Amino acid sequence: MATSFSSLALTQTLSFLPLVQGDTDYRAERREEPGLIETVLAQHGTTVIFVRDGMLAVPNGQAAKVDFETAAVRLASVPGDYVLRGFGGKLDALDVMGVIAVFLGAHGDDPDNVRQVVAFDVSGLAHDGDAQIDRKGGNQAYFAATDLLDKVMGRFDWVALQDFAPHSSAREVGWATTAVALSMWHAAQLYCPRCGSPVLPANAGWAQRCTNEGCRANKSLLFPRVEPAVIVSIVDGQDRLLLQHNKAWKDPARYSVCAGFVEAGENLEHACRREAEEETGLKLGEVKYLGSQPWPFPASLMVAFKARALSVDIQVDRRETTEAAFFTRDEFTEALVSGRIVPPGKSTIARYMIEEWYGRKL
Ligand SMILES: [Zn+2]
Repeated sequence: MATSFSSLALTQTLSFLPLVQGDTDYRAERREEPGLIETVLAQHGTTVIFVRDGMLAVPNGQAAKVDFETAAVRLASVPGDYVLRGFGGKLDALDVMGVIAVFLGAHGDDPDNVRQVVAFDVSGLAHDGDAQIDRKGGNQAYFAATDLLDKVMGRFDWVALQDFAPHSSAREVGWATTAVALSMWHAAQLYCPRCGSPVLPANAGWAQRCTNEGCRANKSLLFPRVEPAVIVSIVDGQDRLLLQHNKAWKDPARYSVCAGFVEAGENLEHACRREAEEETGLKLGEVKYLGSQPWPFPASLMVAFKARALSVDIQVDRRETTEAAFFTRDEFTEALVSGRIVPPGKSTIARYMIEEWYGRKL
């Protein structure tokens, strides 16, 4: 039986994607250990990184470097034992302060030189004015801890994860992505979704527990919800790529591939087909998995596919998608060079999907 050639047959899954966890071992089995954060902070080689309102702490003066293509940027880090001493050896003040400590895991092959990482989410720390931490109503341990945080946080700049990621190592970007994802969740869920009582962080920052003893979420735990979204690069029979402009994008030259949230009761492939048809009127044939990427703004998981359009009859919905067209590689090059098209940002999976089709870096 004769089979027709499919351009998707040669498509490989994407080998590298930004924001995807690096080489850190989560050590998830330790998360329920009582006093884990104190134990880890006291150990040699532990570092503490900081996240606030979705932004990451980098050393003073480094935030400006994200504007320079080749500049390397590191997370600000403070030795764990220094932080623990500042808290008087115990972390009892954390809950009162609204600071959440997250155990991110360990890295390093040498068992004598394992490096552990803890993130401090200081989003809940009340601020008086620009920098001074609010000291109303605290006890002595609280004052000492706020002094320490005032001092170390005065040495930071703050950058967004998307801006930080292209300038750093996969390892640090992995820590940063987890820290931002958990921070966004804790900030959004202050009360138990079952009974409405306040919640407290549990399992070393990876879960929450309801404070109402009569509630089921007090015995069990609350975990972050992840919202899956599909993103699809659509090619036609001549291997041209569909690029589209979304009404919500400020830059009129911004073009990307088709994307949307997965609906209740729907599988990923169906979501691809539905979104493509809604936005551009195109029906899809074969749909092939390309890869996935966490996108914690606030809680998405981007699942990428490549698909073959069954026709080239584009009809944009105009509500969400205002322009869409198929491009040959030459047409795409010309549109990039002339500035008629601006591709998606460096940290996005969309950019890597376009590069996969284009056959070279943007
Ligand atoms: Zn509850």
